[in-house]
Amino acid sequence: MHKTFIVGNKSFVLDQAKAEEAFAAKRVINGRETMTFNLLPLKYQWAYELYRKMKANHWEPEDIPMGKDIEQWRDAKTVTDIERWIIRMGIGYFSAAEGIVGDNIQHVVRELVTAPELKLVLGRHAHEENIHADSLLYMISSLGINPHECEAMFEDVQTIVRKNEFVTRISRDLRRDLDLTRPENKRLLAKNIFVFGQCMEGTQFYGLFGMILSLYRQNKFPGIGQMFRYTLRDESNHIEVFRNLFMDLVEENRDIWTAEFKEELRSTMAEAVQLEKDFIRDCLPVNAVGLAVDEFLQYIDYIADRRLEGVGLGLLAPGVKNPLPWLAEMMDIKKEQNFFEGRVTEYQKASSLEGAHDDDL
Ligand code: FE
Ligand code: MN
Repeated sequence: MHKTFIVGNKSFVLDQAKAEEAFAAKRVINGRETMTFNLLPLKYQWAYELYRKMKANHWEPEDIPMGKDIEQWRDAKTVTDIERWIIRMGIGYFSAAEGIVGDNIQHVVRELVTAPELKLVLGRHAHEENIHADSLLYMISSLGINPHECEAMFEDVQTIVRKNEFVTRISRDLRRDLDLTRPENKRLLAKNIFVFGQCMEGTQFYGLFGMILSLYRQNKFPGIGQMFRYTLRDESNHIEVFRNLFMDLVEENRDIWTAEFKEELRSTMAEAVQLEKDFIRDCLPVNAVGLAVDEFLQYIDYIADRRLEGVGLGLLAPGVKNPLPWLAEMMDIKKEQNFFEGRVTEYQKASSLEGAHDDDL
């Protein structure tokens, strides 16, 4: 018996019995370990689809002109020292944070999951963190910022150190041979995936994203703003990769999904929110970019609850409205199709031509 499998606009004829066996052996964890990267038959469709979507959003830092940014950086009349501080802070924080995310994917999550299509999308995810790191290098060199100054920020600013420690401890715990048949270890991995996707990339990145995009909205540092918008679009997909991964891991391992564990994750998000709010109060001159601190903090509550909602957990601040709708608009992935111009759109076109029948299947 043969069966035709459709992947995007490609079709494959597989021996049905073998395909069913291979399909059954695919698991988020504790599945068949193989070096042969057997993508067929696809079990986690979402992973392949997100891989394609992420690839279609490809961008290269050097395609974005930095001339205006360099001009503004040197001109004391156009931008203030506080605005320069925000840019330095953004570059400093993300230079290290993007590295931590990429490192966790490569040394923890991609190592521990077993289905090849999950490894495929995680490889792309890690590559996008490399692009983000590279874009920060481009900003540093264009503006002539001292890189050590940025590094020092990450090590010396206490509210950043605490944000950093919050994520690295859940990554460090998993860097050893881990028996993933044990529920406590499954929970450790699930928590890692939740912390990195929903708490860090999904919530704690948004304080600085908001600051830089509010400068961009005032036509300040357009090149940097553009790169951060591309980065944000990527982050939306990263949050989605980790959300799906988390949901499937839980689905396949119902034994870990106890009331106690749910509460642990919810309070972990509460801690992430607190750390982000401390960081905003301590470091971000919100008023200087024309925003109100209370609204900005409320935005963090709002975003965190969207993440909790996404993975089926109880909210922390039910009923909180989005106080910064313009920011949501800039970040809303669905509206970004016409939003991005130039090179990135060209990549999208090329890729959507190639996968023209994706939607029919
Ligand atoms: Fe990133
Ligand atoms: Mn990311």
